[in-house]
Amino acid sequence: MSGPNTDYDPVEVTPLKAEEVEAARDAALAAITAAADLAELKQVRIDHTGDRSPLALANREIGALPPQARKEAGQRIGQARGAVAKELGERQTVLEAEHEERMLVEETVDVTLPTDRVPAGARHPLTTGAELIADIFVAMGWEVAEGPVIEAEWLNFDALNLGPDHPARTMQDTFWTDPGTDHLVLRTHTSPVQARTMLSRTPPIYVVCPGRVFRTDEYDATHSPVFHQVEGLAIDEGITMAHLKGTLDHFATQMFGDGITTRFRPSYFPFTEPSAEVDLVCFVCRGVGEHDGAPCRTCRGEGWIEWGGCGVVNPRVLAACGVDAERYTGFAFGMGIDRTLMFRHGIEDLRELFEGDVRFTTAFGTEL
Ligand SMILES: [Zn+2]
Repeated sequence: MSGPNTDYDPVEVTPLKAEEVEAARDAALAAITAAADLAELKQVRIDHTGDRSPLALANREIGALPPQARKEAGQRIGQARGAVAKELGERQTVLEAEHEERMLVEETVDVTLPTDRVPAGARHPLTTGAELIADIFVAMGWEVAEGPVIEAEWLNFDALNLGPDHPARTMQDTFWTDPGTDHLVLRTHTSPVQARTMLSRTPPIYVVCPGRVFRTDEYDATHSPVFHQVEGLAIDEGITMAHLKGTLDHFATQMFGDGITTRFRPSYFPFTEPSAEVDLVCFVCRGVGEHDGAPCRTCRGEGWIEWGGCGVVNPRVLAACGVDAERYTGFAFGMGIDRTLMFRHGIEDLRELFEGDVRFTTAFGTEL
């Protein structure tokens, strides 16, 4: 600011000359109009209305004028500053509206776009487990066979040498369809697939049949009215119990690792003769019966785990299914897929396999 002066003509003070004030005002208005966004307008506001702007500097000169000159100069500056402030305000409003409009467009969320935040599904361990078992046999040249879950009573029982008075045919074990006179059951084992295979083709036959089976069992940690079995059947010339033992030992080793073999215990099944229960070397204590200095929990100290049943196919079954029992012999075996997976993965409660908790399924991996 200049010092007080009383001896010069106010129109001679350069910043306060009318043309200077108009030029400063016009420059400010032009800059306001040219400002393309709020950031530019902010800079224009500093340049043209800030402390060091031409109009602000001119305003300060008013105080240095002689009193008689102040009014006119003050009006001139005041009008110019007012015009600039008004234009600034209007431009601010316009640019804010534009900004908001642009934000609405640019930040629009398209809720129909695909997203990858839904976790990929996993195949159920029962499905992958059944495929793993089938693969072991396919690798030996066997085929996979399937059959219906609603089965003819004759194929489920009679063809397999289960006479009409056999206990397995009572209502205790079997789900019968209604009416019972149509002689249909929910298959109680996968063995009818054996009968269907023998009836539909000629030996040699090497088939493995994984599938769902049904019995009127309670639903608890070790039982379920729906469970899964895998059945194997080999029919050829010269088949013996030794082939059966070798096949099951290979199956056990593939499923549970080297050194895990089987033993047979004499048993009875109507469809095989001789028949045996199959036990597996306990893969936790490896047959010792002790693990970490305590009796093995997995085999309850036995060193062996019950795995399934097997035997040489009863000639009466061969005859019922149209196979020449003089020329051919065969073996069959069956075990629970659920039980096999429980051993293999340390699953303690059978119900885990059936209740659809994705945390359980995910623990088996999410490969597709
Ligand atoms: Zn054990």
